[in-house]
Amino acid sequence: MPARALPDFVTADVDLAGRTTLALPGRAAYLAAIRSCRQLAQLAGWQATRRFVLGGGSNVVLSGDFDGLLLQMAIAGRELAGEDAEAWYVRAGAGENWHQLVLWTLANGWPGLENLALIPGTVGAAPIQNIGAYGLELGDRLQSLEVFDMDRGRPLQLDRPACRLAYRDSVFKQQGWHLDARRVVTSVTFRLPKNWRPLTGYADLAAELERRQLARPDARQIADAVIAVRSRKLPDPAVVPNAGSFFQNPVVSAEIGERLRRQCPDLPCHVQPDGRLKIAAGWLIEQAGWKGRDLGRVGMYEKQALVLVNRGSALGSEVMALAQAVQDAVRRRFAVELTPEPVVL
Ligand code: NAP
Repeated sequence: MPARALPDFVTADVDLAGRTTLALPGRAAYLAAIRSCRQLAQLAGWQATRRFVLGGGSNVVLSGDFDGLLLQMAIAGRELAGEDAEAWYVRAGAGENWHQLVLWTLANGWPGLENLALIPGTVGAAPIQNIGAYGLELGDRLQSLEVFDMDRGRPLQLDRPACRLAYRDSVFKQQGWHLDARRVVTSVTFRLPKNWRPLTGYADLAAELERRQLARPDARQIADAVIAVRSRKLPDPAVVPNAGSFFQNPVVSAEIGERLRRQCPDLPCHVQPDGRLKIAAGWLIEQAGWKGRDLGRVGMYEKQALVLVNRGSALGSEVMALAQAVQDAVRRRFAVELTPEPVVL
């Protein structure tokens, strides 16, 4: 950081324990609590410093101390920004909690985000990896993003095509903006269509709705079912620290998919519109012998092999060693590469 007075919203030498859901130890040289674009403008000049945006800390592995400036996004606000015959337009600040936003839209009678209930993290982090669950992606509901351009020191708007969304991917990841915070999401505007239709095709969700005898569920009932399914399968980070799905579900060519299906006829996979095959990474990990297995103080969760958990006081290096061991085992068994989802800081 240049030798000039720190703005009052920047703190030096900050303990990061408790700021990431994997509960790994580490300190940040500087941390700025960002509540407005004006504060980002003030920091735009500090370009010599390494920067990183921290949302809910649910997609980060701390490998140790961070010698740069962390932007802790705390921009608040949720509002109905507009409405026309086709849709409601809802805007939310980047620092809002994602799940609370979903519940708030439903309570207001604006359906459309229910399948994405209980995904951890903040609103601002959601478009970076185009969060998705149970057949719905954020991209299906995105209208635009308000972004702060740290290079030029001014805000700009990205419409949906400019976000270049794909499966758990966006222009932020494609350009590396999620690593150096050159462009920071400050708010997100959603388009929630009024001709809402339930999306209940995924097996786990369909089974839960059937169990509840809901043949024609409304959006709130779908959210409740999603919450129930996720709560059963995924550990609460407050109890068992974790970062959700640790690996992406690999999407392989039709040719590789064919080979895998010959090798394992019961392989859970789904054909993509482009003919490629999306494979359940959790299944690969389980078959490779890592479900419920530990390495040091970390392990792959017993109820969902895709989730890496901190059994207590682990270091970032232990997380990375386990991730590597799992990747190696899956590669040896299936010749498929698993890509970690969280960013290693
Ligand atoms: P799951 O429902 O067991 O699904 C495993 C894999 O099979 C996923 O790749 C899923 O695709 C695919 N799949 C299942 N049913 C499908 C269908 N009817 N059509 C097409 N593809 C289908 O996965 P899980 O681990 O228990 O997670 C539940 C949901 O939460 C999944 O949708 C998962 O992607 C999502 N999730 C998202 C994030 C995130 O956004 N970062 C993190 C954790 C979990 P999809 O991945 O396309 O759904």
